[in-house]
Amino acid sequence: MAVLVTGATGFIAQYVVDYLLKEKYQVIGTVRSQEKAEKLHRQFGNDPRLSFEIVEDISSLNAFDQLFEKRANEIQIVLHTASPFHFDTKEYEKDLLIPALHGTQGILNSIKKYGAHTVERVVITSSFAAIVDVSRFSDGKAVYTEKDWNPATWEGCQTDGMNAYCASKKFAEEYAWKFLEENKDLVKFKLSTVNPTFVFGPQKFEEDVKGHLNTSNEIINALLHSQPGSTKLEPDYHAEYVDVRDVAKAHLVAFQKEETAGQRLGLNNGPFSSQAVVDILNSKFPQLKGKIAVGPHPGQPDPTPGCSFDNSHSKKILGFPFISLEQAVYDTVAQILKKEGKM
Ligand code: NDP
Repeated sequence: MAVLVTGATGFIAQYVVDYLLKEKYQVIGTVRSQEKAEKLHRQFGNDPRLSFEIVEDISSLNAFDQLFEKRANEIQIVLHTASPFHFDTKEYEKDLLIPALHGTQGILNSIKKYGAHTVERVVITSSFAAIVDVSRFSDGKAVYTEKDWNPATWEGCQTDGMNAYCASKKFAEEYAWKFLEENKDLVKFKLSTVNPTFVFGPQKFEEDVKGHLNTSNEIINALLHSQPGSTKLEPDYHAEYVDVRDVAKAHLVAFQKEETAGQRLGLNNGPFSSQAVVDILNSKFPQLKGKIAVGPHPGQPDPTPGCSFDNSHSKKILGFPFISLEQAVYDTVAQILKKEGKM
């Protein structure tokens, strides 16, 4: 029996696939083109337990039908990670809201049509974005838990990429829970979601380190390439983080443990600020001394922390320790510097 991982090319999904293969699962990954399938297959050493199916665009509501029609009898577990993650658009519906929502609608309806009696667990990669009230991002007094929901509306969120992205995660996740409630007698699967904060960490494969990285790691990459002498940090984040290796591990625990069924699993290991990131860079990498920004408050606690996410409930269920900010930032940057020939 196989685990289906949608969006297998993604930063997070590549680790998920890696951990599944290490635990000897058969894995079916969806990718958008044959070329992407071939590259990933090579990167995973042509592992015979890994196969691919092409799903070009999850915006199409029947995007997953063909795949399930063909392979539903093999698929026991579904990990739906595919969803656009960027803030770089003004076409909010087309580029963010519709693919996120239709992707989740599409896969759940394909399961209902073709895998109602075979799929046992479904894990949706949601986000802290589905939990937080974006207007209170900078409110250091706001504390969220797994019970909270982003209050965004479809029309109201279409003001900027960040609001629209966060809302896209809320609408997709909300649909999933509602779908299960309405179809609980028609499908067999149990649902869990994983809701990470900003995900940092090295790319699974060094060859994928490019000038511009995936949205969350690009925060670190931009700070690594900041101007020396500058006291203003760009981007200037006061948010929360989790390491990609913990996020991948959580995707497995999310279907392996009985207690994770029906849960929103908050994935967070505490606050970070752009200042904290440049502090780590300046102290851990001697080759960067004098070559990057030091920031306005070097070595000081964040004077204006943002909202926080109390995920102690999820951490208890998951039951493994999370990787520190120092380690996550160090590993991310060491890989970039190595690729740039500076380490
Ligand atoms: P990536 O951008 O690296 O991965 C996104 C994946 O989704 C890619 O495989 C991409 O395919 C696929 N995808 C995007 N749009 C479409 C589409 N229209 N049709 C088909 N496939 C599509 O992002 P991450 O790995 O960071 O994110 C993965 C998931 O985790 C997302 O659901 C995201 O919302 C969530 N998340 C991420 C966080 C983070 O900080 N990184 C935090 C919280 C949640 P392709 O590679 O071909 O473009």
